[in-house]
Amino acid sequence: MPAFPEVSLGESSNRSLCDANLADGTGTTMGKMMDRSKRPLDQISHEPQMRRAIELAVSARAKGNKPFGALLADFDGNVLLEAENTEFSENDFSCHAETNLLSMASRKYSVEQLNDMILYASCEPCAMCAGAAFFVGVGHVVFGLSADALAELWENNNPNPRVLDMSCRQVFDTALNHPVQVVGPIMQQEASAPHVGYKIPWK
Ligand SMILES: [Zn+2]
Repeated sequence: MPAFPEVSLGESSNRSLCDANLADGTGTTMGKMMDRSKRPLDQISHEPQMRRAIELAVSARAKGNKPFGALLADFDGNVLLEAENTEFSENDFSCHAETNLLSMASRKYSVEQLNDMILYASCEPCAMCAGAAFFVGVGHVVFGLSADALAELWENNNPNPRVLDMSCRQVFDTALNHPVQVVGPIMQQEASAPHVGYKIPWK
């Protein structure tokens, strides 16, 4: 198992131009967009929520699905919705934990409400899920294991995986408006546990 350096939230977050504008309070157009956020993501604790997302990943694997979990929380740490990967149990490869979660979230909450909520994902959202988060209107994303670390963990048991080589930040950076604030990777050692020895159960 690879060793994961501890990354502080300060280093891992606020990398985008939008976030920089928020930090320096310049009041630019992009900075004003970010003012919709009640509190910057790096000023609240993410550990309990991420730990729960990792538990959901463990649960997904126990059910024969890929080990990914996601949840939606508010800025007070209240968990509002939870979802697991269900690709194999539903025989639908678009059923990533995040798309399952976002589909429920979009039906339940307004875009304005979702803008003030946080998507926690046990692993870095793929390009499909990052796009879904953007279009549903979630304003903030926190992820555990990085996509690169996941690839390293999977490479022995899952050769030739289907991968889009695009980070979630690259997806969000293409947004012409409605920026998404991102923190991650965090808690990578814990987030890696559900993936150790995992082999995709191709049918
Ligand atoms: Zn995905």
